[in-house]
Amino acid sequence: MNLCVLGAQWGDEGKGKIVDLLTPNFSVVARYQGGHNAGHTVYVNGQKFVLHLCPSGILHAGVMCLIGNGVVVDPHALFAELDHLATIGVAIGGRLLVSDKAHLILSYHREIELLAEARRGERKIGTTSRGIGPAYEDKIGRRGVRVGDLADQSSDGPLVGAVRENVAARNRLVGNTELKWQDVVADLRTVWTRLQPLVTDVSLYLHRAIAEGRAVMFEGAQGTMLDIDHGTYPFVTSSNATAGGAATGLGVGPRAIEAVLGVAKAYTTRVGAGPLPTELLGEMGERLRETGQEYGASTGRPRRCGWFDAVAVRYAARVNGLDALAITKLDVLDGLPELQVCTAYRCNGSTVTEMPGDTAQLAACEPVYETLPGWTKPTKGITKFGDLPAEAKRYIHRLEEISGVKAAIVSTGSERDHTIVRDDSIAAKWFKR
Ligand code: GDP
Repeated sequence: MNLCVLGAQWGDEGKGKIVDLLTPNFSVVARYQGGHNAGHTVYVNGQKFVLHLCPSGILHAGVMCLIGNGVVVDPHALFAELDHLATIGVAIGGRLLVSDKAHLILSYHREIELLAEARRGERKIGTTSRGIGPAYEDKIGRRGVRVGDLADQSSDGPLVGAVRENVAARNRLVGNTELKWQDVVADLRTVWTRLQPLVTDVSLYLHRAIAEGRAVMFEGAQGTMLDIDHGTYPFVTSSNATAGGAATGLGVGPRAIEAVLGVAKAYTTRVGAGPLPTELLGEMGERLRETGQEYGASTGRPRRCGWFDAVAVRYAARVNGLDALAITKLDVLDGLPELQVCTAYRCNGSTVTEMPGDTAQLAACEPVYETLPGWTKPTKGITKFGDLPAEAKRYIHRLEEISGVKAAIVSTGSERDHTIVRDDSIAAKWFKR
């Protein structure tokens, strides 16, 4: 069964661990959006791996990993990641392919992003400043440079023309002429030498793999609430992190996605600016941050922390058509005397149970909480649902009820085997193959 795994909250839900855990049951893992702003942290036997562009399946020998057209690729970041993986003994050899239609992040995209953020002042989005947004802007503006364009080696062809125009636009924007288009072209020629063997028609590859009955996992980055269309616009990422993005970002029909798994933490976090209704600014927020080690995998920035927001997860269930949840980091809540779960919002004097479309309205919302008892016995490392303390079971059951989605997987630690896979759930199908 082909499966899409994506973030059901504001990103950093622990998708990397879940994808890594599921990978042995799949033949292909394909990333469909985002760039190297994503940071998936995976622990295997105590060793930490941080992946930015490569699908998390890369850590498993024999699994093909694809970077789809919906991803924006900084070739130097990709090469650095491949070099790093090689030094720590992860053999890539022929297992990574990149779409010829993926857009490139070029050196000046980063500069442009820093400028744009500075110009926004107080209203800044809190981006990772890796050039992701400007690369997507160029894509939509129909002036981007795609991976396949690098095959054009002519000195006056379309590649040189596009780079010349883009560098001229950059120079006008930045207000200097330090960047020479010739240098950008020269860099791209070097990039092509290394990139060329990895380039393929990812859509065709997937079409054939699916026809042969090979199981494919579609891997999302960031999360639903950061989706360019369905998230808390404008405090969002520049791509479709939701399930629809898997179809457009890889060139497969929507029916190729046979199930959708939403990954959600047992609480809520967010990096960067924008509304976060359940945010805890005091001691409890600090407690979640420290226990959960809530610091960005890509930037090291402290994450904003709060209680589980069932309104947001219910919304994620709707816009992604979630079949199941993987609830991560349950162990982080160990030892708390009681827990709050946000079941609705109070907005302008009325109670709402659906996510407001207007971000300013969301920012003005107050969470409506339900209090549940905490547990004293640690859940860390527990692998059977039946072994969880009664209060932890009750907590999971309640999250399922108000989110409207079953928790097929519950994660109780960062290691692969710190995981509960519920026998009576859809997840049993993913592990059977
Ligand atoms: P991703 O981008 O969604 O993959 O998330 P990140 O990698 O940014 O953040 C997830 C972090 O939580 C990583 O450091 C994981 O090792 C860690 N993690 C994942 N699941 C669990 C869990 O169940 N318990 C604990 N304590 N840590 C977890």
